Amino acid sequence: MDSVKQKFAMTHIIVLAILFIYMFLGIITEPTKEGLYGVLAVTLLWLLDSVVYFMQLYNKRYVLIAIRYVEIIMISLAFVFIVHSYTSVLLVVFLAIMIFEMLFLFDFTDIYTRTITTGVSIFPFVCFLIIRQLSFSDYSESGAVEMICIISIIIVFVAQISGILVTMVTSYERRVFEQRRLTENAKDMNETLKLHQEKIKKANEELGIQKIKLETANRKVNRVNAETLTQNEILKYISSTLEINDLVDKITAAVRNSLSLDFCSIMIHPSAVHSKKKIYQMSTSLPPAFEQGFYNELMQGKFDEFVERKEVYICNMYQCRNVCILSEGAVTSMLIAPILQNGNLNGLLFCGHSRQDFFDESIGLFENITAQIMMALNNANLYAKVQQLAIRDGLTGIYNRRYLNELFKKLSDEAKINKEPLSAALIDIDHFKSFNDTYGHLFGDYVLRKLSELTDNAVNEHGGIVSRYGGEEFVLVFPGKSTKEVYNILVAVQRAINSMPLDYEGVFVQVRVSIGITSYPEICNSPEEVLNRADLAMYYSKEHGRNKITIDNDDVHDFFRAKNNEYTSKGKVKVV
Ligand code: GH3
Ligand code: MG
Ligand code: MG
Repeated sequence: MDSVKQKFAMTHIIVLAILFIYMFLGIITEPTKEGLYGVLAVTLLWLLDSVVYFMQLYNKRYVLIAIRYVEIIMISLAFVFIVHSYTSVLLVVFLAIMIFEMLFLFDFTDIYTRTITTGVSIFPFVCFLIIRQLSFSDYSESGAVEMICIISIIIVFVAQISGILVTMVTSYERRVFEQRRLTENAKDMNETLKLHQEKIKKANEELGIQKIKLETANRKVNRVNAETLTQNEILKYISSTLEINDLVDKITAAVRNSLSLDFCSIMIHPSAVHSKKKIYQMSTSLPPAFEQGFYNELMQGKFDEFVERKEVYICNMYQCRNVCILSEGAVTSMLIAPILQNGNLNGLLFCGHSRQDFFDESIGLFENITAQIMMALNNANLYAKVQQLAIRDGLTGIYNRRYLNELFKKLSDEAKINKEPLSAALIDIDHFKSFNDTYGHLFGDYVLRKLSELTDNAVNEHGGIVSRYGGEEFVLVFPGKSTKEVYNILVAVQRAINSMPLDYEGVFVQVRVSIGITSYPEICNSPEEVLNRADLAMYYSKEHGRNKITIDNDDVHDFFRAKNNEYTSKGKVKVV
């Protein structure tokens, strides 16, 4: 816009320069007073326009309007006095340029401003034209009509052009406006869309977080369920059996099933169950070769380094690469949990799975399981202890009479069914009453313990069973042994008893025993007679000088029949 104004200002200077040259040439060829005024007026206008151009007054809208208005008045005034037709045409052209410029100075869209401006711009010209017509009556009519036509054409032309321009600009601006509005609308919609997208994204993220939380919670619930299930199963088995091997077997199966493991095994140290051997059980879905291999490696001490830690240890194939059976690939995750009591290692729980990283860091369950296993072991131990107390003699630790009677009944039945021999011997310490009286009851107790221990060891070696039958009497039972075999064993026992080192306050003390032996079916007709007949044989030894071994025979039978006419027997007589 500013460059258009500048061009208008330049056009003014050029047109006025042409006008000046033209008029100046006019007064040289035909010097008149009017011509000189005209030249002066044009010079003045030229100077004024030069000021407008060089001082850039064309940018100051209202100053420019005022200057142009003054110029229009001056041109109109010149027009009144200038009769030369070419000069008039030039003035009209100049005037037209000014009117165009005026149109540019105003808002095109405002048709009223434009019309008023045009009208006001033309007004002085029209006024002076009328004055000219009135003052120069001699002026040719055709010239005046010609001039009115030119002016009318200019006005119509200007009005038309400005009308078209206004329409063009208005429609262009409307289009631009609508375009802008559409763009704005699209922008707004985009913003709203973005906002919604953001909201959806946030909601999605929230949903994702909620989902993860839910999944985590679900996993936790599932794990707790599995843990509770496992612990319940174990608890069930704890109360279902008190036999340690059976118990360990059932626990391994329960742990494996509840946790869907590929194998579960438990190894218990002998000391934990007062046994001579380790207790070991495995429950597995893997081939027997794995089971055997694992057992071998366990016994070879392949897991010893994990045992040292005394805490739950999780390993995968890489960590357990020194364990051959794992490096073969059947099991890639393994957990080893120590079975502890008061910080002492009593055994190990092994859990394995073929899936890598099967065990996570949640070891609480396994600590609980091992604690429960320990509890179960304690229960079983306690039960075993109570059972031992019930079947063993409190002083000597060997079996008591009640248990011997039970056991003997069982052995009798077996002997009858299997038609196998069943022998028994009865040992009674000689003059033990006076022994007690001499050395005291406590020393007597000590002797009873020593004799029991010695006899038990000697008899156990030969598959026999020893029990304390009464005060200083012992019953020895030998399933499957003949009279001769038992006699040989008892000779050795008697010899050992006789030379038993008993030191009473620095004095070497000795005990002697009387022994009776009998056997089914060699001597007795039925196993039920065996204990009584061994007792009689022992009494026979007593009656015949003590410190003797008597094998049941007819003499024993006759001797006691003679004594109380009660006993009968078919056995052969042999007194040793
Ligand atoms: P015999 O040679 O005829 O068998 O004579 P004995 O004195 O051994 O037999 P008797 O039946 O008269 O006495 C058995 C004694 O055994 C009586 C008792 O003092 C003793 N005795 C029984 N039980 C115990 C016990 O638990 N500890 C001790 N120290 N002595 C016991
Ligand atoms: Mg006795
Ligand atoms: Mg005695």
